[in-house]
Amino acid sequence: MSTIATRTAGAARLTAAVLALAALIGTELASGGAAGVPAPAPAGAAVQARAADAAWPVLKAGARGTEVTALQHLLTARGHSLTVDGAFGPATTAAVKAFQRAQRLTADGIVGPATWSRLAPTLREGGRGPAVKALQSLLKARGQAVTVDGTFSAAVTAKVKAFQRTRGLAADGIAGQRTWAALLDAGSGAPFGDRAAVARQILRTGGISLATAHPGGRHAGSTARQNVIDTANGKGALTSPWSDKPHRRVALDPRMLDALLKLRTRHGYRVSVSEIAGGDHSPTSRHYAGLAFDISHIDGRHVGDGTPHRSLMSACRTLGATEVLGPGNAGHGRHVHCAWPR
Ligand SMILES: [Zn+2]
Repeated sequence: MSTIATRTAGAARLTAAVLALAALIGTELASGGAAGVPAPAPAGAAVQARAADAAWPVLKAGARGTEVTALQHLLTARGHSLTVDGAFGPATTAAVKAFQRAQRLTADGIVGPATWSRLAPTLREGGRGPAVKALQSLLKARGQAVTVDGTFSAAVTAKVKAFQRTRGLAADGIAGQRTWAALLDAGSGAPFGDRAAVARQILRTGGISLATAHPGGRHAGSTARQNVIDTANGKGALTSPWSDKPHRRVALDPRMLDALLKLRTRHGYRVSVSEIAGGDHSPTSRHYAGLAFDISHIDGRHVGDGTPHRSLMSACRTLGATEVLGPGNAGHGRHVHCAWPR
């Protein structure tokens, strides 16, 4: 069932106001840290090591985050003069195209597997320079305490080994292609399955707005933002008691959380999330199983108002969603629904 299309116009205006407020809060969080969210807890026994199945991310203009910072350091290492700011803007696009032309790749400015594999050098102890800074930035973002100083010391070797062990890679302390891919394939910076760490990262990432109310204003404990805050605090997310009676706490699925983060960090969309585990859906909805989110706004515009919802829906499928609905599907003219399998 739709969460928004069935509401009145008045409620829709309220939703828009709430989302505008959420966008403001998101901006503050981006610069000031996540208010009300405690310091990261150590990874517990529930955290699983992911097998060595990492894939190179695809980065393009508009993306931001640690992967972009690493890209900029790697381009700098190849002699391209760039400001390393973690934002994939026109200067980064120009540098990527120049690198691609030099490598006789398609110069489309989009960084995929072919470009990454040529950019990422094999690094080992004794190495120096901007490429080592790229490695150190990624290690740091993945929870390894290193200084980003461009020097591959014995301490860095130890951190590379520690990271490799978390991903089921051979712990040789050398950053080769598989280690680079694994370092780059973690939009959350968290070992797969660490839903609290992913939730904290979502709260810290600018450009992901989480609704702070439902249409009609009821059930404040089950809003999208409260769902993510509860998850960051190690609790389950509350469902809403409209159709899911009585409401209860569910664990948000890490695949869904990771994908929400990557819509921003990898695919470059600014998104507003209207519902996660809460809202008014059919009793068997995947929302109530912690497996789905609804996107109401893309890049500041409401879904249906000329938004790139088709490409966002395709990004959800790329990120593993198996139930993706949007404009053109009954009840989804004004939002995109992405859900992961049970
Ligand atoms: Zn939905």
